[in-house]
Amino acid sequence: MHESRTWDVIIIGGGIIGLSLAIALRKRGATVLVVERGEPGREASHAAGGMLVDFLAETPAALQPLATASARMYPEFAHGLEIESGMKVDLRDQGTIVFPSLDSENPAGVTFAPLRPDQFADLEPELHHGNRAAFYLKERSIDPRALTAAVLKTAKNRGIDFSSGDEVTAVHISNGHAVGVKTTKTSFAAGKVVNCAGAWAGQIAPHPFPTRPVRGQMLCLAMPTRDLVRHVIRTPQVYLIPRSDGRLLVGATVEEAGFNKRTDPATIQRLHKAALALVPKLADARILEDWAGLRPGTPDALPILGATETPSYFVATGHFRDGILLAPITAEVMTAVIESRDPGFDLKAFSPARFA
Ligand SMILES: Cc1cc2nc3c(=O)[nH]c(=O)nc-3n(C[C@H](O)[C@H](O)[C@H](O)COP(=O)(O)OP(=O)(O)OC[C@H]3O[C@@H](n4cnc5c(N)ncnc54)[C@H](O)[C@@H]3O)c2cc1C
Repeated sequence: MHESRTWDVIIIGGGIIGLSLAIALRKRGATVLVVERGEPGREASHAAGGMLVDFLAETPAALQPLATASARMYPEFAHGLEIESGMKVDLRDQGTIVFPSLDSENPAGVTFAPLRPDQFADLEPELHHGNRAAFYLKERSIDPRALTAAVLKTAKNRGIDFSSGDEVTAVHISNGHAVGVKTTKTSFAAGKVVNCAGAWAGQIAPHPFPTRPVRGQMLCLAMPTRDLVRHVIRTPQVYLIPRSDGRLLVGATVEEAGFNKRTDPATIQRLHKAALALVPKLADARILEDWAGLRPGTPDALPILGATETPSYFVATGHFRDGILLAPITAEVMTAVIESRDPGFDLKAFSPARFA
């Protein structure tokens, strides 16, 4: 079987990166088809915590300009999606309390004023800080499940086409140019193709991008009172992310486990215990669920963004631990690259050619 229709752009993979890019391209007038192996928005983007971290000490230096730009774009990005989809995405700006690891009291030369006990008591009264140094960051968080649902609805409202349950096996090349994709069911034609297949991006012929799955396990608690924890709290062992509806996410492992999305009861228990040590009042909190997702990792922990060596074939993947944060800026710079405009950022560090 072969579809006779042609699109301006085919996007492989309907995660937050593929969906946000699809919308940005559609806004510029392109016709777009998203081809998704399963259901859109059910992989890493569904599993994420949703911290929007652009802090100097926690962000790779090469990524800092994109991370900061994307963090700044978030209020408008989230608001636009809420208006278009009619769905809430729970963008929160209460901020984050960070306990740095002991060997990085002054991480990356960043100076910060440690919180005083009265400030702890004010910000997060139930937090058991044990007199350890911590500091406050003005940082946002979002609910990635709500976000991907809103992005998906917006994409559909804007007339983006979808082929779900359809795995791309290869990019079609004709006269040296990408002209579409071949799937397990059919094939589709397009002027341009973008690989946004996350941890699986390297499995699609002809370019074996060196992406790999990095498993993250998390659990979710129902707080006994809705605002028991109000801030994101990060320690070297665990992080806590409150949602406005009273859920609290506890994460996350960073594991090399192949394409394995199972959780391990002992690991979930360890995370749970670490959360209780931080906020003892969580002893009364019910566990709602646990899960694992596969972050798209790369050899240098930086994304892969840009044109490939095959004309008309592009890639936007490898966002590792920051794909939720980086979705708005990735959509913006990749739209520029695809339209042969200046993306406004030096993307050399992210070039797919660096692995050649
Ligand atoms: C536990 C955990 C916590 C995280 N916390 C945060 C956080 O706090 N902040 C943050 O910014 N980021 C976080 N991340 C990282 C973030 O989730 C990812 O970087 C981001 O979701 C990557 O988006 P993506 O669209 O590239 O990948 P995905 O969401 O995985 O989407 C890729 C899509 O491609 C599809 N696909 C794959 N192969 C094919 C094929 N051959 N044909 C068709 N479709 C295909 C998949 O089915 C999938 O839907 C976290 C991740 C995990 C696992």
